[in-house]
Amino acid sequence: MSLRAPEDTGDNTPIVNGHDESIYSTCAALATSVNAFLETEAPTPMLKAVQEQTRIALGVIDEALDRYSLDEISLSYNGGKDCLVLLILLLCSLANHKKGALPKALHTVYIVSKHPFAEVGAFVDESVSTYKLDLVRYAMPMKEAFRKYLDEHKKIKAILVGTRRTDPHGENLTHFDPTDSGWPAFMRVHPVIDWHYAEIWAFIRHLEIPYCPLYDQGYTSLGGTTDTHPNPALKAEGKDEDKKSSHQTFKPAYELMEDNAERLGRDW
Ligand code: FAD
Repeated sequence: MSLRAPEDTGDNTPIVNGHDESIYSTCAALATSVNAFLETEAPTPMLKAVQEQTRIALGVIDEALDRYSLDEISLSYNGGKDCLVLLILLLCSLANHKKGALPKALHTVYIVSKHPFAEVGAFVDESVSTYKLDLVRYAMPMKEAFRKYLDEHKKIKAILVGTRRTDPHGENLTHFDPTDSGWPAFMRVHPVIDWHYAEIWAFIRHLEIPYCPLYDQGYTSLGGTTDTHPNPALKAEGKDEDKKSSHQTFKPAYELMEDNAERLGRDW
């Protein structure tokens, strides 16, 4: 599948179904960029694999947009790399979506950790303004939070999730899975379920998408401050400026290649 560049009127003002222009221009800019990526011959086997993963994920998102109206869909967003990729792909798909008017902002939900990183909070805030998100935050256990979210947003029927196969509980998921019994009822949509860790980073870096700065400090999976550390697999010896003592530094998250080493910086 290939994304079409947005039509315009000749004066750079896109018109699609009379929707709010601000989210459309965000979507259109991202679609143009992803489109160019998909149409160019990949210079490396990794980017070729990412192109294929991108096409599959866009197909899943398109299917979700066919099954559900825009006010029935939300995205679970915690500022992490996987849901960041998902957010970009969702916005791209919306640029071509002809089913109805685009919303003023995209439904998103964030369950704030008990011990949040300031950097994660700041990155989520930045995402809200960059990508025009209608973000609802809850500070409570996840199941309870989704129950409250559905109660307060009665139209929501499907939530996109950035879980991947190698995450805990990711092993048996498919692209569309109703929530388990005991969870509030909605459809979970997993467009990036089969992406590898390194493919997520290749996409983000190739498309130059800004990401949470903790990843540059060796964090590879973001939880709370009490249970998340830089990944020991990324340890690098550094020297202090006076060169008298050495101290521990960490390479950036995108230097890790192995899926199964991703959570070595998490205590659970
Ligand atoms: P990560 O690997 O850090 O994140 C994976 C993805 O989950 C993210 O990309 C993001 O889309 C979402 N996510 C994770 N944390 C947050 C957060 N704090 N705020 C918003 N989004 C977040 N468990 C069950 O046993 N049965 C279920 O039916 C079930 N349904 C769920 C539905 C949704 C929408 C979500 C987000 C979680 C659900 N879970 C369910 C819990 C899930 O299995 C994981 O335990 C949980 O997502 C945290 O896992 P993780 O640390 O591996 O997340």
